[in-house]
Amino acid sequence: MSAVRVRFAPSPTGPLHIGGLRTALFNYLFAKKNNGTFILRIEDTDQTRFVDGAEAYIKEALDWCNIPYDEGHGKNEKFGPYKQSERKHLYKAYAEELITKGNAYYAFDTAEALDAHRKEHEANGKTFIYNWHNREKLTNSLSLSAEDLAAKIETGEPYVIRFKTPQDETLVMQDNIRGTITINTNTLDDKVLFKSDGMPTYHLANIVDDHLMEISHVIRGEEWLPSMPLHILLYRAFNWKAPEFAHLSLILKPVGKGKLSKRDGDKLGFPVFPLNWEDPKSGEISSGYREAGFYPETVVNFLALLGWNPGTEQEIFSLEELIAAFDLAKANKSGAKFDPEKNKWFQQQYIQKKDLKELTSNFKALLKDKGISTSINLENLTAMLRERAIFSSDLYELGKYFFEAPASYETKAAKKAWKDGTSDLMKELIVKIEGISDFSTENATTEIKAWITAKEIGFGKVMMPLRLALVGSLSGPDVYEIAATLGREETVARLNKAIEVL
Ligand code: GLU
Repeated sequence: MSAVRVRFAPSPTGPLHIGGLRTALFNYLFAKKNNGTFILRIEDTDQTRFVDGAEAYIKEALDWCNIPYDEGHGKNEKFGPYKQSERKHLYKAYAEELITKGNAYYAFDTAEALDAHRKEHEANGKTFIYNWHNREKLTNSLSLSAEDLAAKIETGEPYVIRFKTPQDETLVMQDNIRGTITINTNTLDDKVLFKSDGMPTYHLANIVDDHLMEISHVIRGEEWLPSMPLHILLYRAFNWKAPEFAHLSLILKPVGKGKLSKRDGDKLGFPVFPLNWEDPKSGEISSGYREAGFYPETVVNFLALLGWNPGTEQEIFSLEELIAAFDLAKANKSGAKFDPEKNKWFQQQYIQKKDLKELTSNFKALLKDKGISTSINLENLTAMLRERAIFSSDLYELGKYFFEAPASYETKAAKKAWKDGTSDLMKELIVKIEGISDFSTENATTEIKAWITAKEIGFGKVMMPLRLALVGSLSGPDVYEIAATLGREETVARLNKAIEVL
């Protein structure tokens, strides 16, 4: 294979959607797997859809996910600039080259005229397509006389340049995920390549840039599949070698139907963006995975498995492992269901792997925010609590009872744990605990267990009410560990309080 060069080519029309981020990731993985180059190209030819801050957002999102581009706007601009608005001087000549070659033509039809055609067709139950069957009847350089054409150009009448789609041809195309795709060119319309505002359309700019930037593989979302025939025809018209194509399957809503769209925003109860986004016009905030407490490694992991799988049972992958395992041939044709619950499961796996010191310092910051100070060893406490945590912010809720004695006891738990005779038993336990001089987890466990065994009663009879007294419910980590962490005095105080209340 010649040098692999792939690009992620977003349009800065808003925040990068999670689906766009997956496209970037797949391009990145493919590049790294094949010792290739990953390029970021900003496709901003549609000035009407430009959104302030979107480009910076895209870069920040890639950065956060640790998938840096090798070439891009402002970085190793080998074939730069990498932003289409800065290349706009370049495209017209290519459009004109196609006119010279007979593959494109000038069209002068006004928006009103086209609209009238559309309406007329609709009234007859038809769809208006500007192509082989009517192009000779519309106002363009194919239908106009040479003088009329010259006059229109002379007077500066606005025009667009349209592609002259070949007629009556069965186009056979290859997609690295979908296999062979066949289409009759008569079903295609003569797409606009160059607009009256002097800017190229997406199609022209995309093809010209992919060619000039020596892109070897185009990996993009399924929504671009309908553009593939035109793109292949454009390469042919220019007499350029086309890159290989791969169209990734759609990401579907959790119900398994319909594309997960930007507009789903927070409506479905989970973010669809990597980072928080504040709309520059409305000020509306859309939430992001970063701010929701997900780690970038989690997001990368769950995105990689949307529409791709290694063909094994393995689910947890570091970025390095993903690069090693990545194979585009294993990407799925059918849509991938987005599963927010599974995404949380991934996050839960990653919080278990997190460096304990880092997690502890997150926890410390959280406590500081809440104005809580404690003499408890927080590293030990973090180690104890993380098993049940999904996000680092959960640590506080999970361990709240370490900082304040329970104000009440869960009714159901109390009913289950505190029976007749429990109070007397707990009084005896207090005496026992007061007699344990080394109140470490290990020793407290041994001593209390021995005491229970000697009494010939079930462990639950002691451990459940003890837990209830310390936690206020029947949840939490090992009860001896909780007691040892709280210390002998606090354990006794909480037992006394429970005896009094229950
Ligand atoms: N600018 C297009 C987008 O916004 C790029 C499509 C492609 O990769 O060809 O997704």
